[in-house]
Formats: sequence, structure tokens, C-alpha cells
Amino acid sequence: MSDDKETNILDQEEVVWSIKTNLTCQVCDKLFVDPRILPCLHTFCCLCIENLLRNPPLKDKLLKCPSCHLETGLDSRNSVRKLPANSLLVSLLDLLRIQEGKSVQCDVCDCSEEESSAEVRCRECSIYLCELHSEAHKKAKDTKHHNLLSLEYLKTMSLKELNRPTYCVTHTGERLALFCDLCNTSICRNCALKDHKTHQTQFLEDAYSKLYPKFSQILEQTRSVCIKVENAIPALNCMQARVNMKADGIIRDIEDSINAKIKALEQRKSELRAAVELVRVNRKTALDVQRRSLEASRDALQVSCRFVKRVLEEGDPVHLLSSKDLISERLEALANHHYELQPREDHVIKFSAENEALQQAIDSFGSIDTSYPYFATSTAEGTGLHEANVNQTVCFTVITSKKSNQRIEVLPA
Ligand SMILES: [Zn+2]
Ligand SMILES: [Zn+2]
Ligand SMILES: [Zn+2]
Ligand SMILES: [Zn+2]
Ligand SMILES: [Zn+2]
Ligand SMILES: [Zn+2]
Repeated sequence: MSDDKETNILDQEEVVWSIKTNLTCQVCDKLFVDPRILPCLHTFCCLCIENLLRNPPLKDKLLKCPSCHLETGLDSRNSVRKLPANSLLVSLLDLLRIQEGKSVQCDVCDCSEEESSAEVRCRECSIYLCELHSEAHKKAKDTKHHNLLSLEYLKTMSLKELNRPTYCVTHTGERLALFCDLCNTSICRNCALKDHKTHQTQFLEDAYSKLYPKFSQILEQTRSVCIKVENAIPALNCMQARVNMKADGIIRDIEDSINAKIKALEQRKSELRAAVELVRVNRKTALDVQRRSLEASRDALQVSCRFVKRVLEEGDPVHLLSSKDLISERLEALANHHYELQPREDHVIKFSAENEALQQAIDSFGSIDTSYPYFATSTAEGTGLHEANVNQTVCFTVITSKKSNQRIEVLPA
């Protein structure tokens, strides 16, 4: 008993969570009205789906689910009306209204007329009744012993207990009670007597109890697939981390390799510069020596010229005659001296670099190979794969291929 109550509380919590997250239509952003289930199991208001069909967002011919974009196969208002109702959500909506103390519509009152809000729910008929109809329910012969539950009491009921009955669309007021195996549809007793007279039918409860284990099994299978899919995701994160690590490592390798080449080039640059500087210094030294020599010669010539000129212009003849031999010897010596008049060194220095070859080498330097043996296109063959003896070496061949199916290499193992 206490166990039951605990489960009930848990159920209620789950229900409240479901209410909060599941009762809003993603299209109109309001509480669902007549929620219908699309083939992808997403639910939207019947009217919202019809509106989408009328104004498709991408001018698609067939409507796509607004949540997951799966094609729904819906092409007309009629096909929307045939979508199964999400009765779980209908019950949830009822539960929400009851929990919040809002009115629930009477199931007996005529829809076209103004509906009165329900006061009670009949436990046996699973329908909501207004004051007027609950009185009638109490008096009618068939239903006078039914338990009418107050809305206050309903607040303590589970979602399952609040399910509404489903009625036949063809026969007003008739509940769907049977399942036609041939037509694969739920039908009412009237249907069973008319259109489905020759068809094999069974009670809904029986069909349900047969379906339950099958669905449980499918659910179990789907859940295990779900777990596999979910478990595959961390491996992707792991792989992403490894890709990042590898890419970082390769980038470091590229940096190191190129930096080494840059360093070698810098080294060569220094060597070439040094060679040019040496030429500069050597030629400067040579030119300096030559310049100093020529300057000394020029000074000597100027001094002699000035002296002789003065003697000629201002000196007296005795003086000139007494030193004529000395003067003529000196001037002759100066005039006949061999002067180095052309610069000893030239400006010519040549720098040649075989640019093209180096440029080509740079352009084609290094390469990135992204191929790897891809498991889906790689195969193994050989008898060793299928037959083996204890403690004996087997032989098989692994043929690894790239993702593009291009064979990489054959590894005998
Ligand atoms: Zn909606
Ligand atoms: Zn969907
Ligand atoms: Zn009523
Ligand atoms: Zn009743
Ligand atoms: Zn019917
Ligand atoms: Zn049938």
C-alpha cells in the first residue's frame, strides 16, 4: 500500500515534469488544442498542422515536420484529420486544467452549442459531466449506480485514470471498443455490425495485451540502439580531441621544419653580407692607400710648382742660376715619376642566386597526407580468418584502403 503511494507520488512528479515540457505546441507556442501525432512522433495542434499545410514554409509539396523536417506525407486537410490524436496529451491537458482548478468541458453537452463546464467525472464511463448531465446520469437506469467523482477528488488521480474514451467518427456517441485486424483500425460496435461485418475483430483490450509485449520488445530494441548511439558520441569527442592534438603536433612540426630552413637562410644571408663587407673593406683600404699616395704626390708637386714659380717671377737671376741644376733635377724627377692615376679597385661586385630552383624547392617543400586505412573499405582475406588450430600460426591478409576506396598497402599478418 505504502509502496503504491510512493509510486503514485513519483508518477505525479513525472506528470508535472511532462506537463511543463510537453504541453506547449512548438508552432503556436500555446497549450495544445486537439493535439495530433505526425509520423515522426512529434505532436502539434491539428489546426497548426493544417495552417502549415496551407502556407508551407519552403513551398514543399508535402509537409515536413517543423521540428525534425521529416517528410510527413501529408498533402490535404483530410490527411491531417486522419492523424492519430495524442490522447496522452489530451489527458495531460485535462489533468493540468483540473490541477489548476480551471473548467473542463462536459462531454455530453453539444459541441455546437455553448458548453457548460463539468462538475464531475463518471468513473465507469470516464466522461466529464456538467451539473445538468450529472443529474441525468444519476437518474438514468443504466448509469444510476455509477461513481461520480468531484473535480477536487480528480486532483489525486493518476494520468492513466484520467484518460478520455475515444469515440467513433462515424457513429456519434459510440465508443471505440473493437479492433479490426483486416482494416488495422479501431472501430465501434456499430462499425463491427456494418462495414466490418465479415472482418475478423477483437476487443481493444485483447489487441492491446497482444501488442504490449511486441511494443515492449521494439521499445527495448530501440532503447538499446539509443544507448549505442548515445555511447558513440563521447568517442567522437575523444576523436575530436585526438584530431586537435595531432593537428597541433603537425603544426608544431611544420613550424620547426620551416623555422630551421629560415634559420639556414638567415645564416646564408649573414655569410653573403659578410663576404660583401669584406670586399668593401678591402677595396676601401686599397683606395685609401692609393689616395694617400696621390695626395702626397699632389702636395709635393704643388710645393715644387709654387717654389719655381716664385723664383721665376720674383727671384734675381743669380739666385736662379745658382740653383738651376737642383730645380731642373727635382722638376724632372717629379714629372717623370710614375703616378697610379686609375683607381686601384673597381665598384663591380656581382650577386647571383638561382632563384627559380630555390623557389621551386620552397613551393614543393613538405606535404600533408591525410589518408589512413579506413575500416569500412578495408578487408581481410585468407583461410586463417576462418580456420585455426591451437598453437599454430595462421595466415591472412589485411587489405587496407583509404576512405576513397584507394588501396594503400597490403600487410600480410
Ligand atoms: Zn499549435
Ligand atoms: Zn518531427
Ligand atoms: Zn453537459
Ligand atoms: Zn457513467
Ligand atoms: Zn462506428
Ligand atoms: Zn474492417
